[in-house]
Amino acid sequence: MRYSTFGKSGYKVSSLGFGAMNLPSVPLEQAREALNYALDHGINYIDTAAAYRNSEEIIGECISHRRQEYFLATKTGARDYATAKAEIERSLVRMKTDHVDLLQIHYVNNVTEYKKAMEVGGAYEAALEAQREGKVRFIGISGHRPDLLVKWIAKEQFSQILFHLNLAQPFALDELIPKASEMGLMKVAMKPLSGGFIQPVDRAIRYPYSQDVHVTISGMVSVKEVQENLAAQEKEVGTEERLELEQLARELGEHDCRRCNYCSCPVEIAIPDVMIASKFREKFGLLPKGDGFFQRQKEKILSCADHDPCKVVPLCEAKCPYQLPMQSVVQKAASFY
Ligand code: SF4
Ligand code: SF4
Repeated sequence: MRYSTFGKSGYKVSSLGFGAMNLPSVPLEQAREALNYALDHGINYIDTAAAYRNSEEIIGECISHRRQEYFLATKTGARDYATAKAEIERSLVRMKTDHVDLLQIHYVNNVTEYKKAMEVGGAYEAALEAQREGKVRFIGISGHRPDLLVKWIAKEQFSQILFHLNLAQPFALDELIPKASEMGLMKVAMKPLSGGFIQPVDRAIRYPYSQDVHVTISGMVSVKEVQENLAAQEKEVGTEERLELEQLARELGEHDCRRCNYCSCPVEIAIPDVMIASKFREKFGLLPKGDGFFQRQKEKILSCADHDPCKVVPLCEAKCPYQLPMQSVVQKAASFY
C-alpha cells in the first residue's frame, strides 16, 4: 500500500480506503472486526454517506474511539440548505464525532441537481457553514458523469472529487483526473469491482491503483475481504502490467455506459448492469456475479422485445446523454437465455 499527500490537505492518505456502504448488510461484530482490522493494517480513509442505511452508526459504534486514526468522509444527498444542514448534524451524532474530514455533495449527475445544490439556499451553503463552524474540514463532490464533473470542479468550489474508475469504467482518465491533478484536488476512485462484476479482485484493485489517484475506496464487509484488497496493493504496478490493464479497460469500457442512471426502464431492466455485464460476457464468458444477475433479471430482459411503447423509439435510448444502443444490447442479452 502506498501513502501520498492528499490534495492540499497535507494528510498522508492510504491508497486503499474502506468503503462502508455494505456494512449494514452484515452482523455488527463482523463489521467491527473488519473496520478495526483495516485500521490496524494501515488503512486510514473511511468512506460512508448519510444515505447508506445505518452505515454511519456502525462507524460510530465500532471505531469512533479511534477517531484520530482515520480521515472520515461522508456525503449528503440533500440539495437544499435545511435538509443538508440537518443531515450533516445527524452524521456527526451517528458517527460520534465533532467533525468529518470531508463532506461530499453526493451523486450529482445532471445540471439541474448541480444548480439546486449550489444556488443560494442550497446544500453547498450548509456545507460552507458547517466548514466555518469546524464541523467539516473539506468539501467535495461525487457523481457518475465525468464530463460534467470536470466542468464543475473547474469553478474551484471543491477540494475533492469522487468518481468511478474501474476496468469497466475508465472514463475519468480522459479529462477528469488530469484536471483534478492540475488543480491539486484530492482524487478518490470508487467502485473498483463495478458492483462486483469485475473479477478477480486482485486485477480489479490493481487497475485504479496503477493510475493517478490518491485513494481507491473498496466496499468491504469482512476481514477476509480487507485482506484480499490489501494483498492486491502489496506491490507496485510496473509499466508492463499497467499497459496491459489499460488495454483491458479500453476493451471492457467499450459499452460506454457511465452508470448515470438517466435511463429508467418501465419494466425495470437494470440497463447499466446489462451494458457492463454483457461486455464482460463477450470478453470472458459468464462470470458468477454476471450469471446471478442475468438469472434474476431474466423475465424483465425477455419482456423488452414485447414492450409496445418502445417499439418505435426505445424510451431508454431517448434519455441517454451518450446516445447508446441499449435496446439492442438488452435484446442480445435476451438471446442467451
Ligand atoms: S427498450 Fe427495453 S430496456 Fe429500453 S426502456 Fe424499453 S423495455 Fe426498457
Ligand atoms: S445507458 Fe446511458 S443513460 Fe443509462 S446509465 Fe448508461 S450512460 Fe446513463
